[in-house]
Amino acid sequence: MNKSSKTACQAPFGQKPAGRLEDSFFDAVVCGAGPAGSTAAALLADKGFRVLLLDQAAFPRDKVCGDLLVADAIRSLDRLGLLSAVREKAFRAEKFVATSPGRVEIPVGGEYLTLKRRELDALLAARAVEAGAVFCKGKVETVKPSATGPAKIFVAGRTEPLTARVALAATGARANCLRQAGMLEKPRPTAVATRFYVRSPAGPDYLVAAFDRAVIPGYAWIFPVGDDTYNIGCGVFLDQNGKGKPNLKNMLDAFCADYPLARGIMARATEVSPMGGAPMRCGLSGCGLVADNVVSIGETAGATLPLTGEGIGKSMETAIFAAEAVSRALLTHDLSALESYPARVEEKLRPTYDAHALAQRWASVAPVSDFIARRAQNSQKLKDALAGIMHETTDPRDIFSVRGVLRLLLPRPPRLFRKKS
Ligand SMILES: Cc1cc2nc3c(=O)[nH]c(=O)nc-3n(C[C@H](O)[C@H](O)[C@H](O)COP(=O)(O)OP(=O)(O)OC[C@H]3O[C@@H](n4cnc5c(N)ncnc54)[C@H](O)[C@@H]3O)c2cc1C
Repeated sequence: MNKSSKTACQAPFGQKPAGRLEDSFFDAVVCGAGPAGSTAAALLADKGFRVLLLDQAAFPRDKVCGDLLVADAIRSLDRLGLLSAVREKAFRAEKFVATSPGRVEIPVGGEYLTLKRRELDALLAARAVEAGAVFCKGKVETVKPSATGPAKIFVAGRTEPLTARVALAATGARANCLRQAGMLEKPRPTAVATRFYVRSPAGPDYLVAAFDRAVIPGYAWIFPVGDDTYNIGCGVFLDQNGKGKPNLKNMLDAFCADYPLARGIMARATEVSPMGGAPMRCGLSGCGLVADNVVSIGETAGATLPLTGEGIGKSMETAIFAAEAVSRALLTHDLSALESYPARVEEKLRPTYDAHALAQRWASVAPVSDFIARRAQNSQKLKDALAGIMHETTDPRDIFSVRGVLRLLLPRPPRLFRKKS
């Protein structure tokens, strides 16, 4: 548990290639330095464990994303002591406009931050390095759990595996390294999304999420990221078996040509980046959370939310829960302590995912979305409740369900929306 290995590679971001790492044994090896991996690495290194953080990319690196940070991400960044650093760099909006398929607008308030992932993930990885984690570059090919010995982490270009008392898989939606561990129940993604950046003087200073007909079952977004630049993208949920190949480029082109705000931005664009696409693993499903001494966190574990496609905050939350369990297992030399991680996820996070999954199915039915949006125009209470979905103070099923819709038909329903405790 000493931090001598900190010198094994230079601090941000001269990541030494993992193939040249002399130490091969760590308390914890974290595979993937996205929000989940870096959060777990930082928290474990904070406790004094010898932590190796590995990523196949040289940092800082880009990541295809909408770049939006909502309440859960803001809370987790605060927990890591990074919130002021993020607020300093981020674009801050206080308004979020959701539009229904019939283009009825619902403005909702709250704090929303956008920060390009190149910057956000670099801050998080630097936080892990500052805490004492060794940060190296290497592509993890396979993670092998063991109930009696160390976990083995096979890395491209390295003849001998790295070993760890506990390994954490945080490679995002690409979870192939867990295939041999027997943890990967569904290798295919559950959603796909694409985005590009555009610079234009004609955009809004608020965020837009459009449940537009061009992208159902999914939504398109226009998120300002500062400096007259907008992250415009769309995501589509696949059927449960991950089948179907939506043409995201055509969908996004159609949205940009037809949606007035997007059309206005594009008409005065001075710079447009190429489009980038990525798979998503949503719904907290498709991957076991613990096998012997291997733990999956973040999007590898399906941490992205089905309704909103937000996953940064929830990935960090799984990492926080996992780091607590791993820390206990390392301190007590008892792997059974890892079981508190799935237990905590089931108790604290599962209800949110189930609610989002159900709400996502309802929100994909255009007449339902339009009806709810029209009702919200005349009801501050309903607007607040819809905002509460983003801030996790509303159970989405209170709106997007048979019961929810029936209650909206009543002229003055008593106790319309309950707050989640
Ligand atoms: C287009 C799009 C828009 C999105 N918009 C938002 C949004 O606005 N807000 C939000 O909250 N969420 C959004 N999401 C979801 C969000 O991107 C993910 O939930 C989040 O990035 C998951 O974090 P993570 O740390 O689990 O994985 P990732 O962020 O994917 O990080 C995984 C890391 O592992 C590394 N890696 C991968 N394979 C290997 C390997 N074999 N060996 C070593 N390293 C490896 C990668 O280089 C990467 O650095 C969006 C997703 C997409 C695709």
